[in-house]
Amino acid sequence: MTLLTLLTYVVYLLAASGFILALRFLASPRTARTGNLLGAAGMALVIVWTLAVTPGMLSHWWILLLAGAIGAVVGMLGARRVPMTAMPQMVAIFNGAGGGAAAVVALSEFLAAAGHGSGLLPLVPMIATLLGAVIGGVSLTGSIVAFGKLQGLIPARPVSYPGQQIVAAVLLGALVVIGIVLAAITNSVPLFLAFVAIALVTGVALVMPIGGADMPVVISLLNSYTGIAVAATGFVLGNYALLIAGTLVGASGAVLTQLMCRAMNRSLFNVLFGAFGTGGAAAGGPAGAEQNAREIGAEDAAVLMAYGQKVIIVPGYGMAVAQAQQPVRELMDLLLARGVDVQFAIHPVAGRMPGHMNVLLAEANVPYERLKEMDEINDEFPTADVALVIGANDVTNPAARTDKSSPIYGMPILNVDQAANVVVLKRSMAAGFAGIANPLYADDKTAMLFGDAKQSVQALVTGVKNA
Ligand code: NDP
Repeated sequence: MTLLTLLTYVVYLLAASGFILALRFLASPRTARTGNLLGAAGMALVIVWTLAVTPGMLSHWWILLLAGAIGAVVGMLGARRVPMTAMPQMVAIFNGAGGGAAAVVALSEFLAAAGHGSGLLPLVPMIATLLGAVIGGVSLTGSIVAFGKLQGLIPARPVSYPGQQIVAAVLLGALVVIGIVLAAITNSVPLFLAFVAIALVTGVALVMPIGGADMPVVISLLNSYTGIAVAATGFVLGNYALLIAGTLVGASGAVLTQLMCRAMNRSLFNVLFGAFGTGGAAAGGPAGAEQNAREIGAEDAAVLMAYGQKVIIVPGYGMAVAQAQQPVRELMDLLLARGVDVQFAIHPVAGRMPGHMNVLLAEANVPYERLKEMDEINDEFPTADVALVIGANDVTNPAARTDKSSPIYGMPILNVDQAANVVVLKRSMAAGFAGIANPLYADDKTAMLFGDAKQSVQALVTGVKNA
């Protein structure tokens, strides 16, 4: 082994350690920034080292510099400007770019190898190339469709048509057959191009029938696929750093997908083929409209909290839509100043992406120690004077505990109905993401404060100040 190879392995090891530590640190909002920096530092190290030691690489230095500069500017401006509610589509588009890159590398490797024309390519690298092309292609177009649905550019509702499952099966079957022919019989370039084209169509066909609100799960799954495609590319190129990074992305994306499904009490199959949900926005519709609900004014609700000893705030999707996090922080400060104990109950799938509530509340400088995970806070609801539900619906629905016919039956929920008083902030009696009635609203203890969450919280702030 030459000194250069040895040093390369050391660099890869350092970078891989950075990636693994990054994942570890990203697990808590307190250490997430450090995690992000460590991951980025590992990636920067590998890029710089690879460019410096790969023969001929720097002869096209201006292309690298230009492409790198464009990518860095687009990435930085995008990340700085994107509102928190649009983060899932940003991840979708970045993920699509990763999948597309893996597919392009597979294509260029195939063309370079097939160009030599000396018989069939060795089987194992060929399989890795095919995997990179197919998974990368599916991830690219699947992520673009996911982006379009979340951004409202294409219909967010599940777009299904008769025979859609058959079309998907035919496309997948064609990919398998062409893949076998390419690996075992002929390295035909037109056939490989057809293979990539079918992969691109498959990405669209698989994601179109899925509802917009399920897109975060789909994006997490596609992210995992992209990781596998990148790992396959690393294998083809003999690059361990790519192999490790791709495997980490593939594995963590798969775990995240599984956790999201479990927290919603749905199988991955149901998410992908169940045509569940109605779109990006909360569903509305008749569910619950017939319920008798008691209304409360902001002043009365404020008094209830101001003279209580313990208030548990339950944020949900509506808080994100209304961007109510700043006034929520203000309300917390006022209540704390009056000696009221204030905690936040965070459900794992509140909002529309993992960590949605944590990120919004962190943005408003709510201290991390006030954010309690579901398992940690659920026993505390019986001791709370008020559970203040801000734009959350499904994650508080007691039907999940008792109603076997409910689509969310079995989903763990926040036990808000065990608090002495429940105040719910939402605009109407409309349903949440699952499109079902919430018996909580008919509970004697519950009072509804109708209106946009930001305005309602601002009214509560004024009310507490005057109390
Ligand atoms: P829900 O979608 O159940 O409910 C949100 C509520 O917010 C609606 O009932 C809506 O009522 C209200 N709302 C919307 N806009 C506003 C506004 N401007 N002001 C006040 N209220 C508003 O949200 P939850 O957070 O309770 O639950 C999340 C749901 O999303 C779960 O079903 C989960 O399974 C699903 N999901 C979560 C993912 C994740 O990773 N977090 C991923 C995919 C799905 P109204 O219209 O009357 O105002």
